[in-house]
Amino acid sequence: MDRILECLERCYDLAEAHFGRRFERPRVTLDLRGQRAGVAYLSRNLLRFNRQMYQDNTEDFLQQTVPHEVAHLIADAVFGSRIRPHGPEWKAIMTEVYGLPPKRCHDYPVPARRATRYFYRCGCPAPVPFTPQRHAWVGRGRRYQCRRCGDMLRFTGQQQRA
Ligand SMILES: [Zn+2]
Ligand SMILES: [Zn+2]
Repeated sequence: MDRILECLERCYDLAEAHFGRRFERPRVTLDLRGQRAGVAYLSRNLLRFNRQMYQDNTEDFLQQTVPHEVAHLIADAVFGSRIRPHGPEWKAIMTEVYGLPPKRCHDYPVPARRATRYFYRCGCPAPVPFTPQRHAWVGRGRRYQCRRCGDMLRFTGQQQRA
C-alpha cells in the first residue's frame, strides 16, 4: 500500500504542476475483487484497487493502473462530470501529464474465479453439480435428464463455492 500511495502522490504532483492548481487527495482502498484492476469513484473521491492484481503485477500496476485511475479523478476535477470516462480529456491527461499510452483496460491475467456449483438430483445416489451457466438455463425453463438413470434432474437447493 505504501508504494501505491507514493505513486499516487507523484501522479498528483505532476497533475498539480501541469494544471497549476491543487487537487484534493482521494481515499484509497485495496479491496476491489474480480476482473477490474482499479475503479475511480468520482463523486466520493475514492480509488479502489485490486489487491490480487497489484501483488501479481506490482511494477506495471504502479506504472499504469494507478495513473489511469488518478487521471479519472483529475479529469473529473478539471473538466466536470459530463465528460466520457475514457474520452479526450482523460486521454490528454494520460499522454500529456503522465506520458503514458491511454490504454482503457489492463492486460493482467484475471485471477481464476471461484465458481459456484449448484447441486441437482436424479435417481442416482450422488448429486450432480451444475455450473452457474447451466443452472441459469434451468431457471429459464430448460430441463436436463440424467444420462444414467433417465430421471429429470432437479435442483436440491444446495450450492457451494468451489
Ligand atoms: Zn478507466
Ligand atoms: Zn441419474
